[in-house]
Amino acid sequence: MEFRHTKGILTDSSTSDPVLDADFIVSAMVTGFAIQRLQSNCDVQFDIAPKEAGDDDAKWQRQLDQLDKVAQAIGDAAKTFLGVQTGNPNVRAGTAVDHRQGAVIVGIYGIAGHERPTTGDIQDPTDALSVGGKVLFDLIKTKDEDPSYQYVGRGAYTGFVDDIGTQEGAHPIGPLSSVRTAIPGNTAAHGTITGWFPRWLPRADDDIWGPRLRYGKSIQEPDSHIGWGIIGGNTAGREPDDRPNPLNATNHADQTSSIMHVLQGMDFLDEGDDVGICGYTHGMIRAIYSAYEHGPSCIPYEITVGHDTTKLSSCLGCSVFMTATGYTPSSIHLGSAESWSPFYGNLSDPYGRYEPAIDLNVMRDLNQRFARYCDDAIRLGLAALPVSRISEQYHASRKGLHDMLGAEFSNDRHVASALFLDALTVHGKDVDRLGRVYAMG
Ligand SMILES: [Zn+2]
Repeated sequence: MEFRHTKGILTDSSTSDPVLDADFIVSAMVTGFAIQRLQSNCDVQFDIAPKEAGDDDAKWQRQLDQLDKVAQAIGDAAKTFLGVQTGNPNVRAGTAVDHRQGAVIVGIYGIAGHERPTTGDIQDPTDALSVGGKVLFDLIKTKDEDPSYQYVGRGAYTGFVDDIGTQEGAHPIGPLSSVRTAIPGNTAAHGTITGWFPRWLPRADDDIWGPRLRYGKSIQEPDSHIGWGIIGGNTAGREPDDRPNPLNATNHADQTSSIMHVLQGMDFLDEGDDVGICGYTHGMIRAIYSAYEHGPSCIPYEITVGHDTTKLSSCLGCSVFMTATGYTPSSIHLGSAESWSPFYGNLSDPYGRYEPAIDLNVMRDLNQRFARYCDDAIRLGLAALPVSRISEQYHASRKGLHDMLGAEFSNDRHVASALFLDALTVHGKDVDRLGRVYAMG
């Protein structure tokens, strides 16, 4: 079996629901993530973007209140599980550093003794960069609207690596934009990353494909559905709208993909067909692979580019990967890490700029740490979320997750990380999922 074709992510029962499964898996992850941080005596802060001129004040306040309630519920569950009293360290809601053009997200490799960035470093990292790093940083900033240089659309963050070492050959790496990739069904055959548990792909006849049926197509036709994982795929049933339509798409979802690709510069390394599952590897993750490969004096950065990206925080997928690999994120956002994915191994590369960009042993090593971390965190979260704490509609997902994880982590069976990635292919806002699971109405 190459993919897992089951009704839900967690069980194949006729009553299982992938949306509920995804809600619960993400909630267990976030809760376990918080527990791990508290255990290390660190505060956990989930951020929203600071209020800007022109924002709807009431709406912004509602979002902060919602996040605040969710943070309190997570803190409560975590502390009950840990058997500690209220007080520090704590889980809380906050606002990300106020930023302007050129501000960055920084991954700080604690093991190498780097210090945490100050607010000033995040708003303008120039003083911390090497001479070459500053040149690259300026180039990324200057080409902020140039799709031939980097991806500049919705959610665009460009990664880069600065090498502050003095040894010969030290040089910055980038730009590293988010890219769309194909998730291999058979990871061993794909080259490198063995031991990955099969990813979940709904059966072809499942109702969940309904919104992905292309406008004007019938189910029997070839290419009838948008591939699983593709962002915006659930709008396939609608006609194109009045946005640009560079490839003359016949439906709203393909129009969105073509805008991302043709007009906003996202590379698609999956050759554009709809078979299997698509994932998106963000710039920070690409930067971490490269920083790790090139040594402890390398620092991974991510910079917001384009007009549509305003949050200066790492998504949940990046936050987990960064924490797992030792590059603690400077700010965490509970938004929607739609089809977030690490690299799985060899990439198909029609552009000639991805191979051999990252040593496969580096990928294997860091992915292994990610898998291990997912297992630890999700098990902790599961233990801290007894049925008495969650909405009744999630009881079946809770049991399903418990049963699928099995007794213990094994290097040959990366179940938790696969389930987390599966959950992220069912798109939704993390803060909403947590609100539902914690029964906050
Ligand atoms: Zn991300």
